[in-house]
Amino acid sequence: MEQLLNYIDGRLQKPLSDQWLDNYEPATGKVYSHIPDSDSADVEQATQAAQAAFASWSNAPLEERMLLLLKIADGIETRMDEFVAAESRDNGKTLKLARAMDIPRAISNFRFYASALQHFASESHQMPGVGINYTLRQPIGVVGCISPWNLPIYLFTWKIAPALATGNCVVAKPSEITPYTSYLLSQVCIEAGLPKGVLNIVHGLGGKVGQAIVEHPEIKAISFTGGTETGKRIAATAAPMFKKLSLELGGKNPTIVFADCDFEETVKQVVNSAFSNQGEICLCGSRIFIESSLYEKFKKAFVEKVKALKVGDPNNADTNLGAIVSLAHKQKILSYIKLAKEEGGTILTGGNEVKGSGRCADGYFIEPTVIEGLDYLCRTNQEEIFGPVVTLTPFDTEEEVLTMANSVKYGLASSVWTNDLKRAHRVAEKIEAGIVWINCWLLRDLRTPFGGVKASGVGREGGWEAMRFFTEAKNVCIKY
Ligand code: NDP
Repeated sequence: MEQLLNYIDGRLQKPLSDQWLDNYEPATGKVYSHIPDSDSADVEQATQAAQAAFASWSNAPLEERMLLLLKIADGIETRMDEFVAAESRDNGKTLKLARAMDIPRAISNFRFYASALQHFASESHQMPGVGINYTLRQPIGVVGCISPWNLPIYLFTWKIAPALATGNCVVAKPSEITPYTSYLLSQVCIEAGLPKGVLNIVHGLGGKVGQAIVEHPEIKAISFTGGTETGKRIAATAAPMFKKLSLELGGKNPTIVFADCDFEETVKQVVNSAFSNQGEICLCGSRIFIESSLYEKFKKAFVEKVKALKVGDPNNADTNLGAIVSLAHKQKILSYIKLAKEEGGTILTGGNEVKGSGRCADGYFIEPTVIEGLDYLCRTNQEEIFGPVVTLTPFDTEEEVLTMANSVKYGLASSVWTNDLKRAHRVAEKIEAGIVWINCWLLRDLRTPFGGVKASGVGREGGWEAMRFFTEAKNVCIKY
């Protein structure tokens, strides 16, 4: 069976311990490759390689760094089919989503930051008649990038690209559940001629490899995307070491539908925002609030559309929802559906696991599930489920819906559906979330800040925000 390898000091290599983990394909429930069960010794080797590469990489001409990042983007594009198949096979997402979203975005991440690095400017502030202060933005050194399983290469490269663009060297860990596209990325980096040690990818478990990255005294900054509980643990380790931290964590995002929305378009987009990638996107809207006067009409149209969604083999062109990422995650989602019933919810559609057929007979599938009749403060409406499960709740006033929307500990994303311009802006201002989409979902310009508030994280990614995160600002003051 194929063995994936770590990428350390420019080489593909086995874990030093020669221990391996199974890599499952969620659509079939079968192991199809082995990945390194690396530990702190591999992280140490990767960190030393990154330290050794730093002086040369951080002083490389900007054009050289830019051309290398562009070559990596081209390398992914050239091997598009392989990346698409691997992203779908590891994660369970449909091939068509991997092709439309994940892989193009990984390419864009490298191209975006290849271009950004040429235009990233330091500020200068004149004190009239007295002197000038200017800010040097210098790379930090060796930084750690840790990413989750839901958008594997998309989120992995969203961290790695700005870290490299700003002249840092990286020790990175993908989720052990979805390692294959980052393995392909290491091959692309070798093909592109990325100098050895600049990027190191260490595969393995969060508690071993992830923790070793966070604890390593020579890794000066951590950019992490994942669950809130893991983020808390990382902060507890990294904060006393005074590491720079960017934490992109969980969400429980509200979707707010007013009676004056464009009805057909709203229903279509809200279905999409609820069930894309089996609901396993941190930005999916899982609590849907509908103005009372529209509630019954919306519910009927929404449930009808959800019933028409096809669950099954991610390779089939007509599949809408592929497999849930792992058996453990499938069980977690099903336990929340059970909880919703215990809390008094009514299942309008879905609620069950789906038995796959053919090669997918042992895969992990769940019906898209819509629930109504739950209090907004119950656990189903407060805790992150991260699967194809949404609740519908009516509201009467703006004030009421804002209270319900803001009642959770999270604050990642939200969407508002209305044709009333003033209301859209008023509500956007009051929602406690890092992102508010008005009459759209998942649309964004990569130059804008990205991230959550409250328990959804600290720090911002995207555009200059990521370039600033991955650099230290030094103020130089000159007196006339
Ligand atoms: P986890 O927090 O379980 O894992 C994220 C990454 O951290 C994985 O690579 C994991 O490794 C690693 N890890 C686990 N424990 C540690 C540790 N002690 N130290 C360092 N690293 C560790 O999240 P999931 O992979 O389950 O992803 C789902 C979560 O991610 C959801 O809560 C979702 O909302 C959130 N998310 C947030 C986004 C945002 O932008 N805010 C975007 C996408 C997802 P391993 O896989 O081996 O456990």
